[in-house]
Amino acid sequence: MEFIANFIDGKYQAPDSGLYLDNVNPSNGQVYAKIPRSGEQDLTRAVQAAEGAFPLWSNLSSGERGAVLLKFARGIEARMQEFIKAESQDNGKPEKLSAHVDIPRAISNFHFFATAIEHFSSESHYMEQVGINFTTRRPIGIVGCISPWNLPLYLFSWKIAPALATGNCVIAKPSEITPYTASLLGQIANESGLPAGVLNILHGTGPEIGNAIVAHPKIKAISFTGGTATGQHIARIAAPMFKKLSLELGGKNPTIVFADVDIEQTAKEVFKSSFSNQGQICLCGSRIFIHESIYEAFKRAFVHWTASAKVSFPSDPKAQLSAVVSQGHMEKILRYIELAKEEGGTILTGGERLRLKPPYEEGFYISPTVIEGLSNDCRTNQEEIFGPVVTLMPFAHETEVLEKANDSKYGLAASVWTKDLNTAHRMADKLETGIVWVNSWLVRDLRTPFGGVKDSGIGREGGLEALRFFTEPKNIFVKYE
Ligand code: NAD
Repeated sequence: MEFIANFIDGKYQAPDSGLYLDNVNPSNGQVYAKIPRSGEQDLTRAVQAAEGAFPLWSNLSSGERGAVLLKFARGIEARMQEFIKAESQDNGKPEKLSAHVDIPRAISNFHFFATAIEHFSSESHYMEQVGINFTTRRPIGIVGCISPWNLPLYLFSWKIAPALATGNCVIAKPSEITPYTASLLGQIANESGLPAGVLNILHGTGPEIGNAIVAHPKIKAISFTGGTATGQHIARIAAPMFKKLSLELGGKNPTIVFADVDIEQTAKEVFKSSFSNQGQICLCGSRIFIHESIYEAFKRAFVHWTASAKVSFPSDPKAQLSAVVSQGHMEKILRYIELAKEEGGTILTGGERLRLKPPYEEGFYISPTVIEGLSNDCRTNQEEIFGPVVTLMPFAHETEVLEKANDSKYGLAASVWTKDLNTAHRMADKLETGIVWVNSWLVRDLRTPFGGVKDSGIGREGGLEALRFFTEPKNIFVKYE
């Protein structure tokens, strides 16, 4: 049995308590590693290490810091296969997905921010005859980065790369459900020449070590991605301490299909936007609105794609979906499918746990599920399920679908499918979300602002937004004589 360790002050260290949690492989339900159950003592050591490292790291030039982060990108690239296997073993996702999305994106995150920092500039404001203002942007100090289990290294690196590039020292906590690839990052940090104490990775539960990070007075900013209820809890602790907060939270995203689309092609694309990563991407569309004139034809094509999707173990190269992340999460998703039936929904395909052949029979597999016959205001359509479950709803008019799409407490992302440019622009302008994709989904340019409105969070990640978040602006005015 492997024992994962915390990474503090450049060294792997056992938790002070000596306590561990189980790390389960979702593809077969077996415990395969132990995770430190870290607490206050571990955090105290990490904060001391970060404090000690800050003067050196923050005073390096952006080029010098960028050079270290480029080595992170190359270091992961050199161990690509190991990272791919580790991510899929930990999370249950198809290895094909880790190979094409998760690990390449983690590499891009380091590469992007390593180079972005060299192009980061701040403003100056000239006042005629009076003087000049200029704004400096310095690192905040010690920052906390807390990430979820659905895209483990992808989202972990999306936070720590800009935090490090801007000169901060970081206390980072990956999800206790998927800690493995983050734990490998300590080796990459040392191989890349990152000074000890600049990046500290603590493992453990949210209520214990997560909470302690949020409440620590020396940690001045929290970048969090996870559930809305957790985000609310974090805000309650961090806001009165005047910490900078970036909260990337849940979603219940609308997918809107107009009558003029190519039905077969769009059904195929919407299948991907619904069920990639077993529907466990905060950006997946889960409420699919279809124009009534093509409802039946689109439904047939979409259900066909869904019913013929291959659900298999992660290393099967033909797997389109694999296991959901945990037994608890699988049970939650299955309860929502039962709720949908109680609310009057009809299951068109899927709707049950799948038992694969040995050695995967105890794995957490659910057949991708399509439901119709529900109104937008029922719980199934209002609450985040975060699994391979979508609903289909017909609409007659643009105003009607806009109202329904916006009738959600969430506002993360939306996708609109139409050949009519005017319709696309009108919809994109009026949808109450932080991100809109037109005739596409999950096309990401790392320079663009990423995040949601309403209960999907506050703040934006990505590009300049992330560099601004992790720095403190100071305006300096110099008077002309
Ligand atoms: P979660 O909120 O349970 O946990 C996320 C992280 O927060 C984990 O590391 C967890 O240990 C930690 N945590 C839990 N309680 C904490 C506390 N009291 N104090 C500090 N940290 C705490 O979320 P999850 O189940 O890991 O992830 C799924 C959720 O994440 C979904 O709601 C999904 O929509 C959301 N998500 C959002 C985005 C986005 O960019 N908006 C991206 C991915 C996932």
